[in-house]
Amino acid sequence: MTTIPTGVKKNLLRSLSVAPEGFDRTCLMPQPLTRCPSRISSLALDISGRCNLACRYCAESATQPKNRPPMEPGQLKDIRLFMLKQGQELASFRLGSGEPMLNKPLLHELQRLIEPGFPVSGARRPEVFITTNGTLIEKDDIDWLAASGWNVKISIDGPASVHDRWRVFPGGNGTHSRISGIVRVLAEKMPEKFSVTAVLAAGSDPEKVFGALASLGVRRIELVPAVHEDPAIPPQNEDIERYGEFIDRYVERAAASETGLPQLVRFSNRVARIMGYDNSYVQCGAGRNFVGVGPEGEFYPCFRFIGVKAYRMGSIAAGLDSRLADSFRKGPARPWSERNTCTKCWAAPLCGGPCFAVTELFGPGEGEPLPLQCAFTLIESHGAWRLFDTLQKQSPEKLLAYLPSALRNHEKAYRTGQTT
Ligand code: SF4
Ligand code: SF4
Repeated sequence: MTTIPTGVKKNLLRSLSVAPEGFDRTCLMPQPLTRCPSRISSLALDISGRCNLACRYCAESATQPKNRPPMEPGQLKDIRLFMLKQGQELASFRLGSGEPMLNKPLLHELQRLIEPGFPVSGARRPEVFITTNGTLIEKDDIDWLAASGWNVKISIDGPASVHDRWRVFPGGNGTHSRISGIVRVLAEKMPEKFSVTAVLAAGSDPEKVFGALASLGVRRIELVPAVHEDPAIPPQNEDIERYGEFIDRYVERAAASETGLPQLVRFSNRVARIMGYDNSYVQCGAGRNFVGVGPEGEFYPCFRFIGVKAYRMGSIAAGLDSRLADSFRKGPARPWSERNTCTKCWAAPLCGGPCFAVTELFGPGEGEPLPLQCAFTLIESHGAWRLFDTLQKQSPEKLLAYLPSALRNHEKAYRTGQTT
């Protein structure tokens, strides 16, 4: 395990650790997690086995094996057989980890396979979520993606001055000019199904990042802090404070219903959780209702664990190893109510506990969360409470805007057994 020296100032964390006045978490406590054995309803496929970029903050390159083979089309058929055998309706596929556009034939194969229903004809069509760095998307791909019905996410870190510091080709050249036009076109062609993720690293100004992405027409923006073993790469204390100021301003703009304000995805989810939607004891269903599938069909809890042998839990050919999956659920993926710091955290029902991968691969140990991630979560949770409290008093009908995605997520989670 790599321990990241986070350097988050103690007094900063301490002030964020105090619950806002009026907040009461007792009515937001989730139902206990089901003890049933895992039934896989979603698969995260590493279809390319590699990436074509050399991003300077890439955490996966530190843990994943460098040379993985791409998935063969035959493997999708094996996956189909596995799902049929399991008798479980498949809710979704996620494509990412390596760069999925490096294996375009398999993307088309997948689209053919899920029409009209997968794995059982007539069943609900599984959703597909693809995360790409965008550099290999050509004109034909844009039209195809827009018509596919898939959810497309491009990783872009804001304006060229920020993005090109981090997201580079192996030769060191930035990728912003290659992808910004593609982001603009996709945002226009598929506004509901398109989103971006921006990684905030040391020195990234969230206001600038958010503004640049909004100016490309993006409607849904996810901001996530970089995690890396080099302490100079993740956001520093002044960056965390700047994130707090950015969220303060976002709350003001959202409370004033600013026209055209893009949705800040993680923040909006926390507002929904304050209203009691999708609260959970775990951050995600990794190792419970979904697994990551490596290029040779091997199972891991999610993308971030692919290739880390200690977390392997079966394969498409041999099936899910229920003993290993069970021990993952009880250990690395245990609920936040069984983690020291989280049990004392006022925001736990708005957070869902730490990302298992970050905690396991980069955390301080004993299943405790990374303080940097907590700082971002607590800032968003304070902001979400302020927005909720303001709107509840002044114009509660505006809170409805935070419900639809929460209801969709909740319905999906309920359908796939991710929540009780
Ligand atoms: S991981 Fe979430 S619940 Fe746990 S201490 Fe951090 S912010 Fe709180
Ligand atoms: S463990 Fe972390 S990286 Fe993996 S799916 Fe869950 S939240 Fe995402």
